[in-house]
Amino acid sequence: MTTAFVLVNCEPNNQEKLINRIEKMPEVKETSALFGAYDCIVKVDNLKRNQIREFVRERIRKLNEVRSAFTLYLKDDFVSGFNYRTRKCPKCKSENLILDKTNGEKLCEYCGFVVSERLRENAL
Ligand SMILES: [Zn+2]
Repeated sequence: MTTAFVLVNCEPNNQEKLINRIEKMPEVKETSALFGAYDCIVKVDNLKRNQIREFVRERIRKLNEVRSAFTLYLKDDFVSGFNYRTRKCPKCKSENLILDKTNGEKLCEYCGFVVSERLRENAL
């Protein structure tokens, strides 16, 4: 399972509309509007690399508001920061960590141990 950040550029004056559409997608964990070279950043995780690629190709790029999208994949074995350093459950060593989208906690699918709490809203 991989975490990726997708940097998106949209058509002029479509930033808010784009964010509203993207944040409703079940694959999306977090999204934020940006200043600068890109208009929007989208975080996707708990998917395989090819699933993320397909998501960007079939869902993101096909939105009318999207002009371009650039995907950054985090290296699985070197994920410091972003609170993703812990990939195994410290309690039962399971690697099946899931993200609870309602409260943003990452927890173990087997024993329910909360591995990490959500980062602050704007800490991306
Ligand atoms: Zn566990």
